[in-house]
Amino acid sequence: MDNRKILLVHPEISRTKYNFAGIIDNEPLELEYICTVLKDAGYEPFIWDGQVEEQPFVKRLADISPFAVYVCGRTRQENFMKEYCRAAKDIGCITMIGGLHAQHNHKRFYESYIDFVFRSFDIFGIVNVLENKAIDTVNGLCINRGNRWIENEAVPFDIKRLPRPDRSYFYAHPRYRYLELQPCAHVRTAYCCPYKCKFCYRNRLNCGTYSARDIADVVDEIASIECDNIYFIDDDFLFGEKRLEEFIRLVKERGIHKKYVCYGRADFISKHRDLMERLKEIGFYYVLVGLEAADDKHLYRYNKKSDLYANSAAVEILNDLGINAMGMFIVDLDFKARDFRDISKWVRKHKLKHAAISIFTPEMNSELFEEYRSRLITRDPSHWDYLHVVAKPSHMSVRRYYMHYHILIGRLFLRAWRQGIYDFIDYKFFIGSIVKNMFRFGG
Ligand code: SF4
Repeated sequence: MDNRKILLVHPEISRTKYNFAGIIDNEPLELEYICTVLKDAGYEPFIWDGQVEEQPFVKRLADISPFAVYVCGRTRQENFMKEYCRAAKDIGCITMIGGLHAQHNHKRFYESYIDFVFRSFDIFGIVNVLENKAIDTVNGLCINRGNRWIENEAVPFDIKRLPRPDRSYFYAHPRYRYLELQPCAHVRTAYCCPYKCKFCYRNRLNCGTYSARDIADVVDEIASIECDNIYFIDDDFLFGEKRLEEFIRLVKERGIHKKYVCYGRADFISKHRDLMERLKEIGFYYVLVGLEAADDKHLYRYNKKSDLYANSAAVEILNDLGINAMGMFIVDLDFKARDFRDISKWVRKHKLKHAAISIFTPEMNSELFEEYRSRLITRDPSHWDYLHVVAKPSHMSVRRYYMHYHILIGRLFLRAWRQGIYDFIDYKFFIGSIVKNMFRFGG
């Protein structure tokens, strides 16, 4: 075969102003791992990431003329993923779908213009597909046989098998950032999450099996990355005291000086003040904490296995140590007006500078989805972005719910603004976006 070119695609997050472009732009790490695997197998991969590319997808597709295209993405990007596969099929490419959304919703991609769907983290199977070799043994592969789809069994993938990602695309696009940390490189040290929060689909990835890399290998990788900011994209990096102790020891021993962003649970932070202090010493700068609620009732209902006391203690510890806490909350569909206000009050009372709000969203193909099925008000996957109401609220109209949501967002935004948290942002752009959406959706 002469043409060895493969286009790896991460679609844009959204085509409206309703996104976090310019605030959080994520390195396409999954595609960079695939790049390594393909180069090792003698292919010529190219990445097109809709977050940072100036050139439209169809233009790039025509310029490169690959023989295969692989598209990844989340639920909110499903429409774009399909659109790009259609365009690739029109010029005769092999079309492959992968990524987080496909792992749990593979059947949503059973379309005539899609040839293969990967529902595993095992990226080595892509080479089998390209070489048409033993594809019936590829972990979790779904194969389009024209009149039917064949589904290979999906088994957990051992993350230790991952190669080093090829970061040439990242280095060529220094726009990737987490808030003011720019550029900011992603590092993954584990797949899946050992906890079972009810609203979350992360714990079902990798067939529900937690798989972690050796921490010495992680430190090796960090040392080799030409970037001062590292974002651990594990669903829960603050897991396993011994592993974290070893991480601190190795980072110190090797004299690595970087800033770090990670996710961690409030209950862990509340019980490990000393460890957090040492993490701060080696450069932990942002810790994203799933606080979820300002009351125990919701935390219990979400099966969070944590409580309001842990939330308060975690924020207090992070504030004391000077680590920036990013508290993540869910506004539930059973909220009354006072519940929105309670979140705002809680944030003020606990001096939480950064807070992010997600609208409760029953993930597709989950028990919650079935529970909420009769209340769904949209089936458009682009609304599964935690910024849209996808099911009818229990105690108010959708319009009123959006009004309370936007008031809460506005309050938190103003609070952050006064404290200079988002000084790097083009405020005119974002305030315009919020006002525009208030008129569009309610309030
Ligand atoms: S919310 Fe966080 S802790 Fe809970 S299952 Fe999801 S990733 Fe794990």
